[in-house]
Amino acid sequence: MSGEHLEKRGLHATLDDAQVAGKRVLLRADLNVPVHEGKVSDLTRLERLAPGIRELSDKGAKVIVLSHFDRPKGKRVEALSLRPIARALSAVLGREVAFAEDCIGPVAEAAVAKLHDGDVLVLENTRFHAGEEENNPDFSAALAKLGDIYVNDAFSAAHRAHASTEGVARHLPSFAGRLMQAELHALEQALGNPVRPVCAIVAGSKVSTKLDLLNNLVTKVDILVIGGAMANTFLAAQGYDVGISLQEPNLHETARTILKAAAAKGCEILLPLDVVVAETFAPDTPSKVVKITEIPHNAMALDVGPETVAAFIRRLPEIRTIIWNGPLGAFETKPFDTATNMLAEAIAQATKEGKIISVGGGGDTVSALKLSGAHDHLTYLSSAGGAFLEWMEGKILPGVEALSKGFSNMG
Ligand code: ADP
Ligand code: MG
Repeated sequence: MSGEHLEKRGLHATLDDAQVAGKRVLLRADLNVPVHEGKVSDLTRLERLAPGIRELSDKGAKVIVLSHFDRPKGKRVEALSLRPIARALSAVLGREVAFAEDCIGPVAEAAVAKLHDGDVLVLENTRFHAGEEENNPDFSAALAKLGDIYVNDAFSAAHRAHASTEGVARHLPSFAGRLMQAELHALEQALGNPVRPVCAIVAGSKVSTKLDLLNNLVTKVDILVIGGAMANTFLAAQGYDVGISLQEPNLHETARTILKAAAAKGCEILLPLDVVVAETFAPDTPSKVVKITEIPHNAMALDVGPETVAAFIRRLPEIRTIIWNGPLGAFETKPFDTATNMLAEAIAQATKEGKIISVGGGGDTVSALKLSGAHDHLTYLSSAGGAFLEWMEGKILPGVEALSKGFSNMG
């Protein structure tokens, strides 16, 4: 394997670099899927995982799937077993999936020993052992013993330095799985090395949860659009009366510092020009559009207004790359999803026409974009939640870093 080859992919060996036939492949997946009354209620994550598993299996690997599920806190909790999820995975794959009631030790070893080339096995919840979250070296070694190579396909868990995401990569030749590869590629395109001008849209409820993210973005993007309740804090910091809107008075100084940092870096900040206000926060409550200079004392801003959205959309033709985190309004309650939907539609259209690269992510952002119907038309929509946000903050994700170190194990 040539160094140059790896460098092109941002230093992560991928499945293209791996010889997997006849090998025991320890595949870290994210099987932490939503479950309702013992049934997987959203198959999206499993469906996205399936092609990578099929590829390994078709190439003759013995696929051994590792994952955490929920928070059993280092103890065996029957209700948090991965068994029903292994069954759902089997249905999605359309192939048999074996299950082992432990992820290390004799039970796991016996299950692995029974595998034929192409077989798929899911091991029990890694978090049933305290060593997982402690990143205990003995536990990592016990996991590593089960495989010949390690493939991490769980970007969404890569912000945790746990045994199955980080420790195990110290023992085995390590590769990025197909989902990890796609995610890293999209993130690199959006922020690592974007086609400029690049615009970030940051919105949502609080400045306080996104301080690191805002501080990182002002150094990286050309245009920063701020919406959501977060924009209320910025408006109030600039002296506007935001009535009873959700905002953070103790962060006004911080907001002003961010605005100054942006100006110093040549990052243009776009704040709302108008907002949709209501006196109460309820579905279909009477609401009206006002300019930001005219927010009534007894009203709250629950969405950005049409003039603001139109102003954002007018800037789209000059933008080449967009990265989006945070709904522009309280989208869960109609009609305060309007601005988010309108902007999502415009971005989806520009993406379809090949004019921009668009990447979105964040728990509520994914829900909002799904509701808007635009999610399928973005270049990439990350379902990684916390890992996506930490990556937007400019942090090095231990699970990703471990992969770039991991190929030194290939000797
Ligand atoms: P993500 O999970 O995508 O990172 P956040 O959690 O930061 O996004 O923000 C989403 C939340 O912000 C949503 O629950 C939404 O209702 C809320 N929100 C956005 N704008 C407003 C607003 N003007 N007033 C109150 N809540 C808002
Ligand atoms: Mg959220």
